[in-house]
Amino acid sequence: MTQKTLFGDTVPNPNPTDETSPSDQPNDSQIEACDLCGDERPVNGELDGAIERGGRILCADCCGTPVAFEAFCRSCGWRHLVEDTEFGRDRARTRVQQERNTHESTYEHICIGPAHDADWREIEPEEVAEEDHPVYLTHIDADGLYIPPQLRGFTSQIVFRTPRATIQMFGTDGLGPYYPLIDKSHFGDPEEILDARNPELAPDRMTIKPQGEEPVEFVVEWGEEVSLQ
Ligand SMILES: [Zn+2]
Ligand SMILES: [Zn+2]
Repeated sequence: MTQKTLFGDTVPNPNPTDETSPSDQPNDSQIEACDLCGDERPVNGELDGAIERGGRILCADCCGTPVAFEAFCRSCGWRHLVEDTEFGRDRARTRVQQERNTHESTYEHICIGPAHDADWREIEPEEVAEEDHPVYLTHIDADGLYIPPQLRGFTSQIVFRTPRATIQMFGTDGLGPYYPLIDKSHFGDPEEILDARNPELAPDRMTIKPQGEEPVEFVVEWGEEVSLQ
C-alpha cells in the first residue's frame, strides 16, 4: 500500500478536490507515531523513518531496543532465555514458544513420568543482565515450597536459604514434592521480614544446597491459592 520514498516529507495533495480516486494520487509515506517512543516519523523504511512490523509502527531508533522472553517449567524449574530486538519480536516469541513446546513434549511420554507444566513470558532485558549463573523457578502454594524432582533425593544434609532463614535438614528419606516449613513469610521486603538472615536474597530468591554440591538458586513465585496478605 505505502510506497517507499527517499524523503520523509509528505507532499500535500496537489488536487484536493479530487476525492473520488485516491489510488491515482501519489501515495507518499504516512506519518505515524512510533509505538514505543511516540516519535512521529514517515513510515518509509528509511534510516530517518519508521517501519510497520507485526502490526506496530517502529521508528528506526527503536528497532534495536532489546527484548527478552523466557520459557520456564513449573514442574522442574527449567528456564530458557531468548533475546532479540523489537525488530525481531515476533520471531523471538515464536522461538520461545517452540522451546516451551519442545520441553513439554520431551516429558509427555508416559514412560518418563507426569507431563511437565511449561509456559513462557516476556521479561525485562535488565533481568537478563543480572544473571551470571542459572536461576531456576519454583513456587509456594498452600502445601509449602515446591521442590523440583532433581533435588528431592539427598543423602545426608540439605540447606535451604531464604531471605528470612537458613534451614538445615538432615536425614536420608529425601523430600516430598512440597516442603511445608517454607512459606510466604520467608519472602518480601527485607525491612519487613522478622530477623532476616539472608536479606540479600529478598524479595523473591532462595537457594537449595545438597551437601557437597553447589547451591541451586531459585526465583520463587506464589501459587494462586495463596493469599498475599
Ligand atoms: Zn521510536
Ligand atoms: Zn520441566
